[in-house]
Amino acid sequence: MIEMNTIYKSLVEIVDEEYVSNRKEDLYIYSQDPGMMEPHEPEYVVMPRTTEEVEKIAKLANDKKIPIVPVGGSLSLSGLVIPHHGGIVVDLKRMDQVLEVNEKSRYVIIEAGVTTGKLKAYLEKNHPDLRFSIPDAPPSATVVGNIVIHGQGRLTQQYGFNSDMVTGLEVVLPTGEVCKIGSGSVSPYWFSLAPLPDLAGLFLGWFGTTGIITKLGLKLYPKKKIRDIEVFVVEDPNLVPDVINRVTHTEMAEDIFIGAQPYPPVFKDIIMIGMLLTGDSEDEIEFKRKMIWDALRIHIDSKEGGFMMMTPSIKQDLLEMPTSSTTRFADVMKGGGFEYCGPIIPVEKFPEAFQKLLEITTKYGITYGNACRIIGRSHCMMFSFGYPFNRADPENVERTKSALHDTNVASLDIGGVPWKPEVPAQKMIMEKMDKNTLELMNRIKKVLDPNGIMNPGNWEVE
Ligand SMILES: Cc1cc2nc3c(=O)[nH]c(=O)nc-3n(C[C@H](O)[C@H](O)[C@H](O)COP(=O)(O)OP(=O)(O)OC[C@H]3O[C@@H](n4cnc5c(N)ncnc54)[C@H](O)[C@@H]3O)c2cc1C
Repeated sequence: MIEMNTIYKSLVEIVDEEYVSNRKEDLYIYSQDPGMMEPHEPEYVVMPRTTEEVEKIAKLANDKKIPIVPVGGSLSLSGLVIPHHGGIVVDLKRMDQVLEVNEKSRYVIIEAGVTTGKLKAYLEKNHPDLRFSIPDAPPSATVVGNIVIHGQGRLTQQYGFNSDMVTGLEVVLPTGEVCKIGSGSVSPYWFSLAPLPDLAGLFLGWFGTTGIITKLGLKLYPKKKIRDIEVFVVEDPNLVPDVINRVTHTEMAEDIFIGAQPYPPVFKDIIMIGMLLTGDSEDEIEFKRKMIWDALRIHIDSKEGGFMMMTPSIKQDLLEMPTSSTTRFADVMKGGGFEYCGPIIPVEKFPEAFQKLLEITTKYGITYGNACRIIGRSHCMMFSFGYPFNRADPENVERTKSALHDTNVASLDIGGVPWKPEVPAQKMIMEKMDKNTLELMNRIKKVLDPNGIMNPGNWEVE
């Protein structure tokens, strides 16, 4: 108790009383996320405003050997921000400044708590010709939280994972030192990670187990004036890899996503492949549209697929960024639970993954939303097994949990890797992983976090 009071007081000295809490109601909120991992309460929640404050919090936690869990928007759904071992939740939402936009070298530097909604609004107002790769997560998700989990967004088909767009980081190490990663470590310009050794890999994909990112440099891209969409529909999942291959060959689509769902029944048994077209003139859009139609002519002529007619309101829905229909779907069941296992798989494995989705949801009597995104020019894809569930119905939760387990097994079986995996899926991945790679992860963690204080429970390699 005395120790707890000392820690509380030390946190108050760092950030002020207003931004520290050990009140039950606050701890309850930070004990869970919208997914299905068991809740667990932290002992303290703290909201730093500056890197110096994060540095002091890390030093305090390291000194006292108390766990720290960095938290952005808490929307990654797979329990990655649940403080499995208690400790201090470091909520970064007050670090919400857009620090610099370099229009000519097309990058932005932001603080860790900047949300996707804030960055989008900021760019629209101040730099309308620039954009970033917006995920379809609710706008309160943070940009940093998204890159930490190797998120994907609206420019992913062109430029890779959102984490591939990082140009620099500022990181507070678990032992309290502050490091800059990328060109920003030797230059005032945060334009690129290359040509230096790529140290960003020590923090991306690690779920906050190796340090707290306090600043991020991110690539921006030209924002075209006009956006349009085409949706190609097929019944046979076996055709999907070929359709994707043909469309990506044209290099005309900005974003390619795939959707299938059993409800409403009018959508049952069809697979929709959405292709976003952007351009600075109607001529540019028409040219791109023609290239894509020509590429898919073979499937139209064979009557295996065709382009969908869309009303203006359907188009508007699909063109929204982020699409609010995704968020509405997440809340489709009473009780408000939603989780998706979105393994990253080779594109040619789409038919197998789709078959698994149907088998698993039939076995457990649950519904699904399948929303995939192509990553790179067909280099791989995120295949979403999305399961809404009713948190208020324990039996429904149990069935969905079992479905999630089977999904992780199936994802690994078909040669994929679960994305933003919850702790049990992390263990499955590590069991399958090359042993020397696992040992390398172990060594890196030990070097960076000798006292094992960072988001413990995650990527626990021993
Ligand atoms: C309806 C819906 C749609 C979605 N669509 C997409 C989509 O299209 N694309 C996509 O990529 N995702 C999507 N998501 C998943 C997720 O919401 C996003 O990836 C989101 O950007 C995660 O950000 P966050 O701020 O909520 O991260 P959090 O959940 O807060 O954190 C994620 C991880 O990063 C760590 N972390 C957070 N901040 C830091 C930091 N500063 N330093 C170190 N570690 C840190 C946390 O400890 C945790 O391990 C969707 C989610 C929902 C609910």
